[in-house]
Amino acid sequence: MFRDEKYYIGGYSLINMRNRNEIRVVEAMKEILPDFPEFCGCEICLEDVYGATLNSLKPRYKHHMTIILKDEVVTDEEIDKKVKKFIKKITGNPNHPK
Ligand SMILES: [Zn+2]
Repeated sequence: MFRDEKYYIGGYSLINMRNRNEIRVVEAMKEILPDFPEFCGCEICLEDVYGATLNSLKPRYKHHMTIILKDEVVTDEEIDKKVKKFIKKITGNPNHPK
């Protein structure tokens, strides 16, 4: 059984057609998290920041082969601002015992 079996339709996999914000949020988190040494960094807290940031952005789906010349809707600054906001929020109120 393939990991992405449920994404197959008519022999084609849609697994690579991802919300383009996903990788941008991961990259922003990698860059920003070292500035927040007090952040827990466990899987639950990482997923909370990732999910909360993605849910606050407009979803953007594109063909995985599409070349993006410029990003019109979500700016890097907006993503960075939201990642920082949710890191602070979850640091102060993690979804597990401190
Ligand atoms: Zn944690």
